[in-house]
Order: sequence, then C-alpha cells, then structure tokens
Amino acid sequence: MSDETEKPVNSLKQTANCCRGCGLYIEWTKMKSGKFMPVEPELITVVTPEGETVKGRVPHWAKCSAAKKFKKRKV
Ligand SMILES: [Zn+2]
Repeated sequence: MSDETEKPVNSLKQTANCCRGCGLYIEWTKMKSGKFMPVEPELITVVTPEGETVKGRVPHWAKCSAAKKFKKRKV
C-alpha cells in the first residue's frame, strides 16, 4: 500500500529541498515575480540601506559551493 502517487499538488513540495549542485538542504521562497528562489534555511537579521532591521534569508546561490557550475555552462 503506497500513497506515493497520491501526493497533493503543492508547488512548494514539488521542488526538491536539496540543492542539485551541492546537495545541501535549502528552502524555497516565492518572490514577488511568482518565481521560487532557493534560499538558506537559516533566518538571519539584516539591515537595509535605510537603517531598518529585517529578517530574511540568504539566497542559496550566494553560499552554494556549486554556484560556479551553474554560471559556467562549459565543463
Ligand atoms: Zn548548492
């Protein structure tokens, strides 16, 4: 008895929670554009140029050890 094929449609769950490049756990944040961006799971506090402190997440590609692979298509 397997319910694997009966997963509810959820765009957040559909995306893998591990980076395809480095394999680390990531989360997905929906941007205003409607696209999903991979981010670090850790919530950090940052200061905006206006001097406001806001909580946010670091885009995963800023830390990803495999980010260079994505930028350079050539092997
Ligand atoms: Zn990565």
